[in-house]
Amino acid sequence: MTKHLTGLQKKLVALTRDLIMIPSDESRPDDIEHCFEFIINHLESLDTVAIKKHYHRGITSLVVLPKKIDKPKILLCGHLDVITHSDSHCYCSHITDGKIIGPGSGDMKGPLAILLKVFMEFHMKHDNLPLGLAITSDEERGGDAGMRFLFDEIGLRCEVALVPDGGSLNEITIEEKGILHLTVKCNGHSAHAARPWLGDNPLERLVDAVSRLRKDFDSLNKDKDHWHPTCALTIIKTPNQTVNCIPSEAEGTLDIRFPTPHTTKEILTRIFNILGDKVDTHTIMSAEPTRFTPDPLYLAVSEEITGMPTIQKKEDGGSDARFIGRHSIPVIISRPIVGELHSLDEWIDISSMETFYRVYELYLKRKLLVE
Ligand SMILES: [Zn+2]
Repeated sequence: MTKHLTGLQKKLVALTRDLIMIPSDESRPDDIEHCFEFIINHLESLDTVAIKKHYHRGITSLVVLPKKIDKPKILLCGHLDVITHSDSHCYCSHITDGKIIGPGSGDMKGPLAILLKVFMEFHMKHDNLPLGLAITSDEERGGDAGMRFLFDEIGLRCEVALVPDGGSLNEITIEEKGILHLTVKCNGHSAHAARPWLGDNPLERLVDAVSRLRKDFDSLNKDKDHWHPTCALTIIKTPNQTVNCIPSEAEGTLDIRFPTPHTTKEILTRIFNILGDKVDTHTIMSAEPTRFTPDPLYLAVSEEITGMPTIQKKEDGGSDARFIGRHSIPVIISRPIVGELHSLDEWIDISSMETFYRVYELYLKRKLLVE
């Protein structure tokens, strides 16, 4: 089935499919450890690098650096966690129409296989090359104990970071929206639903407050590319189970995204003003919008290998790249051609994996070997 593939493609496909087989999602910490071991087993064949595991709040990360270098010129960054699917037997893959299809193939076990392969190749050929590798396991949960911890608390630094977790083959991400995840809560008091005037219905107050919020965010909708703040109500619940009872508590969650020049502080103030003081708000997670400055050499190399112009794009979603970019480190976000991310039919295009590998290879050569 794979005989039309090139030698490099076969290796990348095998490595990707092995990685997909390990269901390394947050509900299976043993499999996350197993996935790290699998990667370390490959890396241990290099004797010029130091392999170090870091732990923070139950999250494991891996940093691999040349033995005498602690600030590499280039750091390859990835995550091995995938999102949780309820069927534990779905973590397998197949090849159809030149694509590897399976959970996590595009985000980001295929790109991770490329990082691993290119890292191994360069270190096998050259001693003490200033090329590092960082792999975390909580990107799908926000990256706080992974990439943020490595850069903010361990002090990991590099001159340029490559993060193949956004964009596409010729699309480089130059901006990501900020994120606010909030819980909103209302308390009231319950009553028989036949006499609602005796109660104070927190569920209705919450729904009213959220619809005021939606109206306000809709007024910010200015362009067809949706490059404006958005607010989505994602969960709404009450402990009440009874049809004819007014509940005493209600809770919801909001997922808010916003581009620069908006800030988390300003968006929060806006939300507090609209919700009023009868709604309790708690921030689950927040991230400022981030702009990235890709290395012009990378853009040139991409165009040389693919024969196509590169497009610099804005991304609605966020990634771990923000934890690196905010230390004024240039971050390059692009990846092979992928699709159906986070679904069971997630895929990565095999020939674009090779092209992407060649882009990384030439960029690393020019950056690390010529200068
Ligand atoms: Zn990802």
